[in-house]
Amino acid sequence: MSYFSGYRCTRCGHEYEPDQVTYLCPICSRTYQPGMPLLGILECVFDYAQIAVAWEEFSIAFPSANPTQKIEELCELFSPVDKEYYPNLPVGNTPLICSQSLVGETLYLKFDGVNPSGSYKDRASSLVVAEAKRLGIKEIVTASTGNAAASLSALCAAAGIKAVIFAPAKAPAAKLVQIKIHKAELHLVDGTYDDAFAAALEYSATHDCLNRNTAYHPFTIEGKKTGGLELYAQLGELPDYIFVPTGDGVILCGIAKAFYDLKEAGITDRLPALVAAQVESSDAITSYWETGVYQDAKKPHTVADSISVRTPSAAHLAVKALKATHGMGIRVSDAEILSAQKMLASRTGIFCEPSSAATLAAYFQAREQGWIRDEAKVVLMLTGHGLKDIEAVKFDD
Ligand SMILES: [Zn+2]
Repeated sequence: MSYFSGYRCTRCGHEYEPDQVTYLCPICSRTYQPGMPLLGILECVFDYAQIAVAWEEFSIAFPSANPTQKIEELCELFSPVDKEYYPNLPVGNTPLICSQSLVGETLYLKFDGVNPSGSYKDRASSLVVAEAKRLGIKEIVTASTGNAAASLSALCAAAGIKAVIFAPAKAPAAKLVQIKIHKAELHLVDGTYDDAFAAALEYSATHDCLNRNTAYHPFTIEGKKTGGLELYAQLGELPDYIFVPTGDGVILCGIAKAFYDLKEAGITDRLPALVAAQVESSDAITSYWETGVYQDAKKPHTVADSISVRTPSAAHLAVKALKATHGMGIRVSDAEILSAQKMLASRTGIFCEPSSAATLAAYFQAREQGWIRDEAKVVLMLTGHGLKDIEAVKFDD
């Protein structure tokens, strides 16, 4: 059974019943226009007292439960959709690798490249597809830089639902191949991700479908929450610092939501510091965090296409999460990213996307600034597989 009890607006605090709203807070989104960060993103609220009881019962019944069993239980307790609706293509429960070899001290690497479509986005797609199944909706649309589209295409194929994709024409070839092989309907947008975002909003306003645009549908954040729940189950406690590749800011918000939920249910009161690893040219969230004033990124242009965003949809919520967790935003260059990507691949065996490698580059900066405590537990979220963008990899020899 689901303990989901409704929605709360992250801006004005107004609460809504399940099925009373679908996307943004109707009050706060009145002044929203495409091309600006979303206003009135909704968060899911649960019956935390009931979850606390259920978790205690589980802990008593299975005192030596392994991380996988704990993950299954936590993800079910904190899911807004019943498990019976989940598509028949498991996502999540990805490895957390304790590495000594990467930088000569312990670092934990959460590798989500092993998800069915090769990225963290499968967590969000899975939940939105489950919701479409619950509602009997046969079509889902999304905008994407590539990964969310590839992901939605795969999960929709598993559930027999039509996927409609709006993606920039210059998305990496492998991601476009993924979309096509899963038989999704692909609309290439001659522009940026931000243009694709607006096109997908327009499409869902005129078609009988569900919109999976990131942060627009609250279940995208809920789906991305599961990575945070998994960290708790795998480490037996939440870590001290979590480095997250950040474009739109939604993975960051999702992981923060895991902390809030666990805290509300009295399971842990820890609040790890979140670090937004951003590219210099796509740094709207970092600038916002520094100055308190929102401004679009000037001209996103980076090898890390997955985090190349001019107008982050979850900018307001992401900065709130950075402040609440006493985290920070860090800018890295393409050169730092490509060097970190090679270091990860050659020292740990993990071939991740450039955007994922931004976390290691950001870690080096944070370490140099003396910002990381000794003996702290640090997690790098490696959210996508390197094979998705082999063009990005350059060799000197
Ligand atoms: Zn509101």
